[in-house]
Amino acid sequence: MSKTILITGGAGFIGSHVVRLFVNKYSDYTIVNLDKLTYAGNLQNLKDIENAPNYHFEKGDIVDAGFLEGLFNKYNFDGVIHLAAESHVDRSITDPLAFVMTNVIGTVNLLMAAKKSWNGNYEGRRFYHVSTDEVYGELHDPKEFFVEDTSYDPRSPYSASKASSDHFVRAYNSTYGMPVVLSNCSNNYGPNHFPEKLIPLMINNIKNKKPLPVYGKGENIRDWLYVLDHARAIDMIYHNAEDGETYNIGGNNEWTNIDLVHLLCDVMDKKLGQEVGESRELITYVKDRAGHDLRYAIDATKLMNNLGWEPSVTFEEGLEKTVDWYLNNWEWIENITSGDYQKYYQEMYS
Ligand code: NAD
Repeated sequence: MSKTILITGGAGFIGSHVVRLFVNKYSDYTIVNLDKLTYAGNLQNLKDIENAPNYHFEKGDIVDAGFLEGLFNKYNFDGVIHLAAESHVDRSITDPLAFVMTNVIGTVNLLMAAKKSWNGNYEGRRFYHVSTDEVYGELHDPKEFFVEDTSYDPRSPYSASKASSDHFVRAYNSTYGMPVVLSNCSNNYGPNHFPEKLIPLMINNIKNKKPLPVYGKGENIRDWLYVLDHARAIDMIYHNAEDGETYNIGGNNEWTNIDLVHLLCDVMDKKLGQEVGESRELITYVKDRAGHDLRYAIDATKLMNNLGWEPSVTFEEGLEKTVDWYLNNWEWIENITSGDYQKYYQEMYS
C-alpha cells in the first residue's frame, strides 16, 4: 500500500542510510526527508537518490512548531521515522541546551504536529522514534546486558535528552493512544559517519599521520553495529512491530576502544601499503571524557526472535567495507573537515 513517510534527520549518518533503503525498496512510498542541515547534515550523503521520483527534501528545524504544522498539512503523512537529533556526547557536555532544544523540544513538537494532523484517526499510522542504548546508563558486570525493560539511568546530557524524548513518545501512546514504536541501538559505524566519532576520526588521522587521541586508558567498551544493519532493523520494526513496542538493536560485538583502534590501525596499514604496526605508533592517550560510561552492551534477542533480524556482516567485514568507503571517497571527508571542524578539533584535543 502506498504511504507518505516523514524521515527526520535524513541527511545525517544513520538517517541517510534509512532514507536510501526506503526510497529504493518502496518505490510506491513517498519519502520526505526533513533536515535542518546542521554541521552533521550533508546532502552529499544522498547524491545517488536525490532525483528519485519518490524522494523529497525539506530543509527545516524540528524546534520550529509552526513549520512542522505546515509540513504535516502539505504532505498528510502516514508515518514518521524520527532520527533528527544532536548526537555527539562530547558536544552535549559543552552545550547541553542545544540537546534539550532539538532532542526534547523538537521531539515533542513532532509528536504535537502528528497528533494534530492525525486528529485521532490512527488507522495505518505510526510514529517511530529512533533512540540509543545510552539511555540505560553504564554496565560494570560483564555478564549483564541491556534488555528492553532495563531501567533508564542516563548519565550524559546527550543520553538524558534522548531518555526524555523516549518518555515523551511513550507518554503519547499511553495518554493519547498514538501508535508508536521505539528502538534503542548500540554504536553504529559505516560510510558517511561524521569524523568527530571514534572510527572515522581515527581513519582520518591515520591517513593524515596525525596523533590518534584515545580517552583515558582506552578501556571503555562499546557494542558496534554496521549502519546498514541498523537501517534494515528500522525497516523491519517500522513495518512489523506491534504498537507500543520497544526493540533493542545491537551487534553482540563488544570492543574496548583501544582494541578497536589497534584493529583499525592494522587494517589501515594494510590498505595504505604500510608496515603493519606503523599507525599504532600514533596512538596518544588523552584526558578521559567527563562521566565516561564504562560499558554498553545490548541483548537483541527480542528483535532476532520476533522479527527474524540478524546482522548481515561480521565486524571485520563491516570495518573493511567502511575503510574502503572512506579511502574511495576521500573528498567527502576533506570537504567536512575544513572550516568549523578544525576549530572543534583544536578545542577538543589540544
Ligand atoms: P547525525 O548527527 O549524524 O545526524 C543527525 C541529523 O539530524 C543531521 O542530518 C542534522 O542536520 C539533523 N538535525 C539536527 N538537529 C535538527 C533539527 N533541530 N531539526 C532538523 N534536523 C536536525 O546522527 P546519527 O548518528 O545519524 O543519529 C541519528 C539518530 O540515531 C539520533 O536520534 C541518534 O540519537 C540515534 N542513534 C545514533 C547512534 C549512533 O551510533 N550514531 C546509535 C543509536 C541511536
